[in-house]
Amino acid sequence: EYTINKIAAGEVVERPSSVVKELVENSIDAGSTKITIEIQDGGKKFMRITDNGHGIPSDQVEKSFLRHATSKILKIDDLYSLNSLGFRGEALASIASVSKIDLITRTGDEKIGTKLSLEGGNIISKEPVGSAVGTTIIVKDLFFNTPARKKFLKSTNSETISITDVVNKLAIGNYNIQFKYINNNKIMLTTPGDNNLQNTIRSIYGKDIYNNLIPLSIRSKNLNLDGFIGNNSIYRNNKTLQHVYVNGRYVKSKLILGAIYEAYKGILPINKHAICFLSLKIDPKKIDVNIHPTKLEIKFEEDQKLFNYIKDEINKALLSSTL
Ligand code: ADP
Ligand code: MG
Repeated sequence: EYTINKIAAGEVVERPSSVVKELVENSIDAGSTKITIEIQDGGKKFMRITDNGHGIPSDQVEKSFLRHATSKILKIDDLYSLNSLGFRGEALASIASVSKIDLITRTGDEKIGTKLSLEGGNIISKEPVGSAVGTTIIVKDLFFNTPARKKFLKSTNSETISITDVVNKLAIGNYNIQFKYINNNKIMLTTPGDNNLQNTIRSIYGKDIYNNLIPLSIRSKNLNLDGFIGNNSIYRNNKTLQHVYVNGRYVKSKLILGAIYEAYKGILPINKHAICFLSLKIDPKKIDVNIHPTKLEIKFEEDQKLFNYIKDEINKALLSSTL
């Protein structure tokens, strides 16, 4: 069991930012309205995710660290609807196998919280502890017991950049949730969590980006595509400001980004990229999500038709925009 977890950890836990992503997605799945992410030394030494979600009942905390322990798949159909972000019950077991963890959690039904400590996947202690409703997970010394993998971690700066990118994407994709991000005791980001995408974009990227956005709202029988696009000159050289979410999941969609690229041809210089913050809601039966945890590719049914449709709609939005 222990060895299997260590091997599997290679899939889910690539680097500190993948730990942050998995833990924050668990917080989102737990119905949290506030999530705080704290890191030190690029997450290599210390990561702490605190949420105000529904918590884990004391008699189930050990179970959540077992491989394939998930409270989220109730029936096989759920696999296709992907309503929650996690559905494989792999993340906590994998992370625990390659780090030192403290989990503190309390549900609304319990008077006192529970603290569980693990090292390399082995439970060290379990004790009652005073705690607010919700869950805090501290992950220390990532890869302490797999030196070969520890060696492949990048500089503190690179790992921090990767975590920041993950936090930004999660915050934008979940603008109904208040995010706080603290790096080496310095507050880097606070999002309002006011269910307003533009306010969240502004809190992360500032006025320059915010003022250059064109709203996009495409409604059709099979899909809704909502959000903002823009061609801000400061950022158009790279793709870091291309955010696409499909049914709440951040994805890499060649189709959507390609349609945007085509629509902006003649407006942006060749090889320059528009900004986008787009959320696509589509019938899950019409998409194929690659459910490997580190791959975010998505395929659509009738993709050529969809490509042309999105491109035409963006063209219309650009023509009627005053920017
Ligand atoms: P998955 O998310 O695929 O179910 P994980 O290994 O990420 O698997 O988590 C295992 C289980 O632990 C979850 O199904 C959930 O029941 C519980 N859990 C993990 N994190 C939290 C959290 N922040 N709040 C409440 N429950 C949690
Ligand atoms: Mg999960």
